[in-house]
Amino acid sequence: MDAVLKPEIRKKPILKQEIAFIIIHLLPLGALFTGATTFDWILCAFFYFFRMFWITGGYHRYFAHKSYKTSRWFQFVIAFMAQTSAQKGALWWAAHHRHHHRYSDTPADPHSMKIYGFWYSHVGWIVGPDFKETDYKTIGDYAKYPELVWLNKYHLVPPTILALVIMALGAIVDGGSITAMFSTAGFSALFIGFFLSTVILYHGTFSINSIMHKFGRQRYQTGDESRNSIWLALLTMGEGWHNNHHYYEVASRQGFFWWEIDITYYLLKGLQSVGFIWELKGVPKHIKFSTDKKHAQELKRQYEQSHSSAPTQEKMTEEDVAA
Ligand SMILES: [Zn+2]
Ligand SMILES: [Zn+2]
Repeated sequence: MDAVLKPEIRKKPILKQEIAFIIIHLLPLGALFTGATTFDWILCAFFYFFRMFWITGGYHRYFAHKSYKTSRWFQFVIAFMAQTSAQKGALWWAAHHRHHHRYSDTPADPHSMKIYGFWYSHVGWIVGPDFKETDYKTIGDYAKYPELVWLNKYHLVPPTILALVIMALGAIVDGGSITAMFSTAGFSALFIGFFLSTVILYHGTFSINSIMHKFGRQRYQTGDESRNSIWLALLTMGEGWHNNHHYYEVASRQGFFWWEIDITYYLLKGLQSVGFIWELKGVPKHIKFSTDKKHAQELKRQYEQSHSSAPTQEKMTEEDVAA
């Protein structure tokens, strides 16, 4: 075996550190005692997709990859909304994700299925002790904002607030008044609308780290195991175009062609149209229609040569066919 591919030694989870994570998985069972209403299931589905958008559009496409720009106050909103998913701080999330791209499917990748197997890439690296800290150096471009560092440290503030909001909604709709928050109406909304939704959201996100590096088609030669899958793209609002994404990671869209459904990208376009975000990065043609990175460079060089006298050359070579 190639010495470079020798796995790193990764420590086993320490059970007492992971009690909260286990309890979160068990709490939806509380609905066996409270029952669950139609409204609780609506909350569950809504807050799955609502928060999936902020995970992919926020944690991933904004903080990890800087695929668009925004103001300082809206950047805080993005981090807050993403963190309602209870997937730790935006700086923690994005720093580890940058490591994933830097070392994709090599031993230094935090969650390579190829090197460490399905369970470790899916959840083992999260519950293990090796990746608990935030690497502030890797995310220095955002760690310079004290409000983001604060939110990263107190990462449980947003999910706690959301849990209370969901209990209040359950109380108002099913209990008739907000005073029913700490009765059955509030608790059934909490178990299904918050905890079950959060658990499904965990595994939706984790599946990108595990099975999106194993199952599906590979359009581009990225040198790693990343794949594309429409099914995962629908469940994760665009993240299933993972091979596209590994090939050209700075783009705000992961579906590169019109038929590659990427709901997150459509919503980002919506946010751009009302002025909350701007400068969404698209996919240049020479990238989109290439097969590997060498081919892309060659296409770009040919294009530049054939347009060398054009005054708009710079603009055209960076042509944004997407946005
Ligand atoms: Zn990425
Ligand atoms: Zn990946």
